[in-house]
Amino acid sequence: MPSDRIRHVALSSVTLPLDVPVSDAKVLTGRQRPMTEIVFLFAEIATEDGHDGTGFSYSKRAGGPAQYAHAKEVAGDLIGQDPSDIGRIHDMLLWAGASVGRSGVATQALAAIDIALWDLKAKRAGLPLAKLLGAYRDSVRTYNTSGGFLHAPIEEVKERATRSLAEGIGGIKIKVGQPDMRADLRRLAAVREHLGDVPLMVDANQQWDRAAALRFGRAVEDFGLVWIEEPLDAYDAEGHARLAAALDTPIATGEMLSSVAEHVRLIEARAADVIQPDAPRVGGITSFLRLAALADHAGLQLAPHFAMEIHLHLAAAYPREPWVEHFEWLNPLFDERLETRDGRMHVPDRPGLGFTLSEQCRRWVVDSVEFGKP
Ligand SMILES: [Mg+2]
Repeated sequence: MPSDRIRHVALSSVTLPLDVPVSDAKVLTGRQRPMTEIVFLFAEIATEDGHDGTGFSYSKRAGGPAQYAHAKEVAGDLIGQDPSDIGRIHDMLLWAGASVGRSGVATQALAAIDIALWDLKAKRAGLPLAKLLGAYRDSVRTYNTSGGFLHAPIEEVKERATRSLAEGIGGIKIKVGQPDMRADLRRLAAVREHLGDVPLMVDANQQWDRAAALRFGRAVEDFGLVWIEEPLDAYDAEGHARLAAALDTPIATGEMLSSVAEHVRLIEARAADVIQPDAPRVGGITSFLRLAALADHAGLQLAPHFAMEIHLHLAAAYPREPWVEHFEWLNPLFDERLETRDGRMHVPDRPGLGFTLSEQCRRWVVDSVEFGKP
């Protein structure tokens, strides 16, 4: 059977506006401004035989135009390639941009293409991506993050949490890491009292030093948190390892890392109990699968960061019972919605990732380019 070939590649940069400006601890400590939009890089790939796939990566605050520009430089090489050879194509794109590194923007630019190729492969097989990869489950425990940010007054956080649980979501995460730790503890106590015995997580978004993280961790041991997320600087593997050893509460981190190599350092240092990779940030599904294999081998729990539309499939294919993060922010980009029920998010039975870009998403395109034959 002659192999299929990539015929057409379209890249687009899409700016998704957020309903309200969003703040986590990085804003309260003065390091970042509130977030008002997210910039997406979409890659749509079509083949001679009429198959197609869509992938995306994204940036919060700066970096979106750079991801788009880098992808635009390397995507022309895809035309005529066999879309099944994802590993080889991933390598080819890495080498094309080797001079600017194997992490960060360069990796994220090729992630959109890598994810589109996996979507294409699963669609061609007529299988949801989770099934193509080899699923362990048809649904994954899910918790909501979007209702627990720090710009929201505590009454709103409680109301949003109640609504999330009513929508079939199984856990609630709230943001902490404010300059005044007592304010964090008050919000956490209020949410625990409001929700009772519901799985609860906190996320400090890297805003504590080692002493503050330990102090907070000791103060909340009795809350029975599912995890404490990003207590320290994302690259402080040793600090995370010490904290994880000192506390009963599991430590989670990894969302800011942008390569397999950076995650390997975390895994080898025993820096976390729960690893939180992000496929668009680490170079796509190919990279995610490599580090997921290492994480499983090291006995770690998995809770991928953001982009539930992609990570639901990857979590379903992880051996140990994972969590997937619920954010409704990306809903306007797609025609389809994910189903949550009994605390779990259900893998759609549609082939591939199971998403098509909405008309609204097309209207938010700010730049686009095409390669090959339409
Ligand atoms: Mg986080």
